[in-house]
Amino acid sequence: MVDLAVRSGCKGLSVSFTEPTLLFEYCLDLFPLARSRGLYCNFVSNGYMTLEALRMLVEAGMDGLKIDVKGCSSSVHRYCSADVDVCWRNASKALEMGVHVEIVNLVIPGVNDSEDCIEEVCRRHVESVGDDTPIHFTAYYPAYKFNAPPTSVSKLEEAYRIAKRYGLRYVYIGNVPGHPYENTYCPVCGDLLIKRYGLNLVSVKLTRDKKCPRCGCSIPIRGEIRIR
Ligand SMILES: [Zn+2]
Repeated sequence: MVDLAVRSGCKGLSVSFTEPTLLFEYCLDLFPLARSRGLYCNFVSNGYMTLEALRMLVEAGMDGLKIDVKGCSSSVHRYCSADVDVCWRNASKALEMGVHVEIVNLVIPGVNDSEDCIEEVCRRHVESVGDDTPIHFTAYYPAYKFNAPPTSVSKLEEAYRIAKRYGLRYVYIGNVPGHPYENTYCPVCGDLLIKRYGLNLVSVKLTRDKKCPRCGCSIPIRGEIRIR
């Protein structure tokens, strides 16, 4: 895996597309090897692991952790039979351990798309990981046995506005390629700083020390940004 990544010119590894905690032992072996070859290691997770497991992953070399919280406590309890406190605790602890953390909230019509539910997510986000940690509201599409209609763009835009009202500085809309809220805007002056299309970086307008060129606001980005 590591040889393949290096040969392909990748900058890192991301464990995704099913819950990566299921590959826990494999990652404990993989991450140190990847680190030794200069690759970063990322987890695209539901964040539902013990603190001990989280610590072991960080010690093995996990640099980034994306947690999809899947809504407010009542929706997560009802549809996942799970306690969303665990996800927020792990997000907070991972941040304390120096991991780059981003939160995703998949918005599903009739499940977790009420204003109250989205407000709870935003409130807990600020309490757990602060206003500088990015949050992404992503669109759901019907699959397998679940037939609710796809999330409307206007619902995602409503979630964006709620998050901004709660003081979140880096809010994104996901799974809607070409939407202007895929981009990063300066939280102070609103200037377009990083333009994206889907998963691709289109342009970056930041000073060498990662400040907004217009107003000087410092943008907390780790590592270098390169357009491929
Ligand atoms: Zn600015």
